[in-house]
Amino acid sequence: MPATPGRALRPTTKVMPGQARVYNRSLVLQSLYSDGPQSRADLARVTSLTPVTIGALVSELITEGLAVELGTRAGTARVGKPATLVGFEPAAAHIVSLDLSPDVFFRGAVLDLAGNILVTRQVPREGRTGEAAATAVTELARELTELAERPVLGIGVGSPGVVDHHGTVVSAPNLGWAGMPLAEVLSKALERPVHVANDANAAALAEHSFGASETEAATGTNENNRASGVLVLTVGMGVGAGILLDGALVRGDRFAAGEIGHLIVEEPGLPCACGRSGCLERLLSVTHLRERLAGLPDPEQQEVLAQAGTSLGIALAPVISTLDLGEVVLTGPPDLLGGALLDAARTAIRRRVLPVVGQALEIRLSTLHENSILLGSAVLVLSGELGVS
Ligand SMILES: [Zn+2]
Repeated sequence: MPATPGRALRPTTKVMPGQARVYNRSLVLQSLYSDGPQSRADLARVTSLTPVTIGALVSELITEGLAVELGTRAGTARVGKPATLVGFEPAAAHIVSLDLSPDVFFRGAVLDLAGNILVTRQVPREGRTGEAAATAVTELARELTELAERPVLGIGVGSPGVVDHHGTVVSAPNLGWAGMPLAEVLSKALERPVHVANDANAAALAEHSFGASETEAATGTNENNRASGVLVLTVGMGVGAGILLDGALVRGDRFAAGEIGHLIVEEPGLPCACGRSGCLERLLSVTHLRERLAGLPDPEQQEVLAQAGTSLGIALAPVISTLDLGEVVLTGPPDLLGGALLDAARTAIRRRVLPVVGQALEIRLSTLHENSILLGSAVLVLSGELGVS
C-alpha cells in the first residue's frame, strides 16, 4: 500500500548534552522523512542547525545509506551553483513487524522504511498460548527476517494486553501470557533490536504516522490541520484504545492507559472472560459480535450492531470530553464497525458531550484497514531506532 509518512511523534524525554548528536541526527532524518528531498541549506533552515553540523550529519547518513543525493532542483534560478537535493532512502533497510491481535492467526510483514508492505505471512494460532504461542511468534519473526532482502533495522510487535516499556507483556489473558518477556525472547533468538507495544497503542501510532481521513485519502491531501488529541479503538479478539495527546502516546501509571475493553457498560450484562459481566469487550469484540449476529435476519443484525455502537459511545463520551479529543478512529472489520455501529456510536457520543466538543469531533473508520497494527509496529522500530515517525 502507498504510505505517506506524516506527523512526527513528540519526543517525550529531555535531551542530555551527550545525546545532542543523536538528537540532531534524528531532526535531520525526520525532516527528510516527512518533508521529502531538500538541500543542505533547507535542512539548516528547518532544523536551526549550523551548515557545518548539517554537512557532517548528511555525510554520515549518506555513508550509512539512509540518505541519498538526488541531483539538483529543477527550475531553480539562483545565482551560483545549484544546490544538490538530499532525500531519505526508504530501501536502506527493512523492518519486520508482527500483529498478534487476531484470534485465529499471527500475522507478520516485511516493510521498507516508508511503511510500504513488501511481504506478508501468517501462521494459524491453533489455540496456542503461553510458551507455545511465544515459539510460534518467534518462528514467524525468523521466517520474515530471512525473507527481508535488506538489513533488518528491527522487529516491531503489536501484542494484545498490557505491555511495559521493556517490551514485557505484563498480562495478555487471551494468549495466556503473564510477565512474558517478549522483546527479550525475540532479540535473543534473532539478534535484532525488538520493540513491543500494546496492539491498540501500535494502531494509534499507525494512524498518527500513516493515517488519513476518507477525504484526505481520496484527495491525496494530508494533515496539518489534524487533531492533536486522537483515540484509536481497536476491535479484534479484544477491545482496546490507544490515545495520543499532542503527538505523544499516553501510557498510564501501569502501562494500561486505553484498556477500556473491561469497563462494565451493561448491568446486568453477559458474563466475560475476566470473571465479571457486562464488559464492553463482551458486547463489541469481533468474536462476540459475530456470535450474536449469526443466523439473525438483517433488521435484527442492524439492531445488534446499533446497540453495540450505543454502548461504545456511552463508554467513550467521558474520555472524549475529559481529554477534549479531536478525532476518534475505529480499527477492525469494516463490515461490523461501519454502518449501524458507527452511526449509533456517533449519535451516542454527540448527545453526551458539549456541542463545542461534539461538533468538531471526527469519528471515523481507519483507512489503514487490517494493516493498522503492522504499520504501527513498524513505527515503533522507526521511532526507536532512527528517531523518525
Ligand atoms: Zn471483562
